[in-house]
Amino acid sequence: MSDSYDVVVVGAGIVGLAHAWVASRRGLRVAVVERDSRCMGASVRNFGFITVTGQGEGNTWRRAMRSRHVWEQLAPAAGIRVEHRGLWVMGRRPEAAAVLDAFARTEMGERCELYTPSAAAALAPELRTEQAHALLYSPHELRVESRQAIPKLARWLEREVGVDFIWNEEVLDVSPPLVSTARRTLQGERVVVCTGADWRGVASAFLSRRPLNLTNLQMMKVRAQDGFALSAAVMSDLSLVRYRGYAQLPESQALLAVLQDEQPEALAHGVHLIAVQGADGALVVGDSHHAGADASPFLQAEVEECILGELRAVLNLESLRVTERWMGAYPVDEHDDVCIEAPDPSVRVVVVTSGTGASTAFALAEDVFDRW
Ligand SMILES: Cc1cc2nc3c(=O)[nH]c(=O)nc-3n(C[C@H](O)[C@H](O)[C@H](O)COP(=O)(O)OP(=O)(O)OC[C@H]3O[C@@H](n4cnc5c(N)ncnc54)[C@H](O)[C@@H]3O)c2cc1C
Repeated sequence: MSDSYDVVVVGAGIVGLAHAWVASRRGLRVAVVERDSRCMGASVRNFGFITVTGQGEGNTWRRAMRSRHVWEQLAPAAGIRVEHRGLWVMGRRPEAAAVLDAFARTEMGERCELYTPSAAAALAPELRTEQAHALLYSPHELRVESRQAIPKLARWLEREVGVDFIWNEEVLDVSPPLVSTARRTLQGERVVVCTGADWRGVASAFLSRRPLNLTNLQMMKVRAQDGFALSAAVMSDLSLVRYRGYAQLPESQALLAVLQDEQPEALAHGVHLIAVQGADGALVVGDSHHAGADASPFLQAEVEECILGELRAVLNLESLRVTERWMGAYPVDEHDDVCIEAPDPSVRVVVVTSGTGASTAFALAEDVFDRW
């Protein structure tokens, strides 16, 4: 292992790995330095849900479209299984059906299809379509099991692409071109800092903006009855006032007013439903959103009940058992989905400030290197 590289990446979450991949593709010699023995951050705590439909109009949607294409190419090469494809958004109320209808007519509704409940019932018997007013199917989404996919991606980058990885070493200082841990100093012609929610560490010296905030999310794994299978990822009304691609439509205001009346608790906890499935049949279900200065370790039973209530309203479940619970956190900036800082000609700090990093990281890394 050398101590001199074209690019040194700090952090082995999806954002760091995406930058390592893009730099390698451009013929650069790359090292990734990661504090832990494997990524334990947001990239392995999420749904592994590569989402296109519903992303904010403009850069985020464009990056999601492109990144989804990259995932499609990389997954087989890196031995990553695509667990399922596509997305059902179930509109449980007339106001939700109106949002879906309006969305389908936008540019971002490309290749999405609207279904009546009876037409959807034949394609997705796992959904309680009799409770729906309309459903939207998007073909774009992919789902990977992120806690396996991220280590596999790192292994593939190391073995097949030639990226050097230094695990178990925290970067303590970046003084370009030097990147130092307690045990070594690397030299990087360019340094990309991708430390996710840990912006108060080595990234803080380079972040000129006001301090970022955090969103804490509650997640769980659940088992349904034997043989239960999702035909695609699932979302519902609450997502239509949260995901910017839908929420920015004027039709979402009427839905929000109804939800404020009928599901105030869910809105207060920032709850909306995403349900995806893994190879073992278990569902990964979430989530909630609580703003805070720090990552919270505490799970609330009330929030869990809120998420499970929405799950029961949408899926044809005969039984339901929670088998795992965890917290995740990501940085937030209300004004932008991503923060890219260039504090020095040879340094970039890249922080995804929204819940979109799994869906956008590859295209984001391409943008960073294109403009550098
Ligand atoms: C519960 C949850 C659900 C989500 N769902 C989705 C989803 O469905 N779709 C989607 O697109 N996005 C989703 N997201 C967002 C997405 O997971 C994040 O945007 C993305 O994972 C951020 O990646 P990252 O590499 O920046 O951060 P991380 O994955 O946190 O990686 C940062 C890495 O940097 C390392 N590090 C930090 N400081 C140092 C240091 N000084 N030296 C060395 N290493 C360091 C950390 O150990 C960590 O491994 C979700 C997030 C959460 C929390």
